[in-house]
Amino acid sequence: MNSQEQWSSKKRRGKESYYLQNNPAFNLTSETQKTNIKLLKNGSKSKSMSRVKGQLVFLSNTCAFDSLVQALAGAYAYNLSYRTSIDKSKTKDRLMEIAISLTSGVNMTRIKIMRLKLLNEHFSKNVAMTFPGMIQKVLTIPSYYDTECCTKLVKKFANICLNNDVLKDDLSNIQQAIESNFIENPVCDRCKRKPKYKREFSNHIFVEVNPRESLSAETDLGRMLQHNLDKIPLSITLGGKLYQLSAAILFDPPSVLEKDIIGHYSAAIRFNKTWELFDDLRENTFSMSGDTEVTIHSALYTILKK
Ligand SMILES: [Zn+2]
Repeated sequence: MNSQEQWSSKKRRGKESYYLQNNPAFNLTSETQKTNIKLLKNGSKSKSMSRVKGQLVFLSNTCAFDSLVQALAGAYAYNLSYRTSIDKSKTKDRLMEIAISLTSGVNMTRIKIMRLKLLNEHFSKNVAMTFPGMIQKVLTIPSYYDTECCTKLVKKFANICLNNDVLKDDLSNIQQAIESNFIENPVCDRCKRKPKYKREFSNHIFVEVNPRESLSAETDLGRMLQHNLDKIPLSITLGGKLYQLSAAILFDPPSVLEKDIIGHYSAAIRFNKTWELFDDLRENTFSMSGDTEVTIHSALYTILKK
């Protein structure tokens, strides 16, 4: 049975996945020890330029990258299953290397050089960009792959965007909204075999819960809804795999007055029912109450094996 078929049969089994959401057993493999995850400060905060391969490079607003790497660091630190899957993987992933470094004794100067080198490869001029744009570029392991039946063409998808017609601004509908994305099961045009794609979900899944960012800043400003962090479902199932909520990417919409185009991203890391805010424009991390109203851009779910 390929993953597409597994996905389909999962759907046919109906609503059993929802029962997992409040199951206390799913937290069993998570860490109980708090790790000191370092805060990576925004590239715009460091005044000096650096030299990479003989060229002078300086970083502007790196918040989309920093929130991504902090979220992954949190998942690595607190989800044992995810950590094991990353450690076992043979692929050299420099993004994960930076995330892992934030949870270990690697010094900050070295981490900043790693960030600079990685960003310099992907962005020739300006790294200031949206979170979805950032993960498209730098996420080596995407959220899922579709392999086309006959051509074996692999398509990588950095995240899953949710249709708000299904989500209805209610985060408890995340599972349904995700499933509605994958409801089509197209027949292969060439061989007429079903299905067209073999779909494989990775060990980390980014779910974009607030899809309205694509609208222009002016029309968007008043419409970005705020939610409580604790309203994000603690787990989802995809292709028969169980995932747990590890982090949320928070978003401050762009300010028209400040001529700011992308807004500001930060990461809230979930640990043992608590939230810790990693904002690269601040000096320290902060604990955050789960009932704080924030604009949640994306949720990071990571693999959970029993
Ligand atoms: Zn085919």
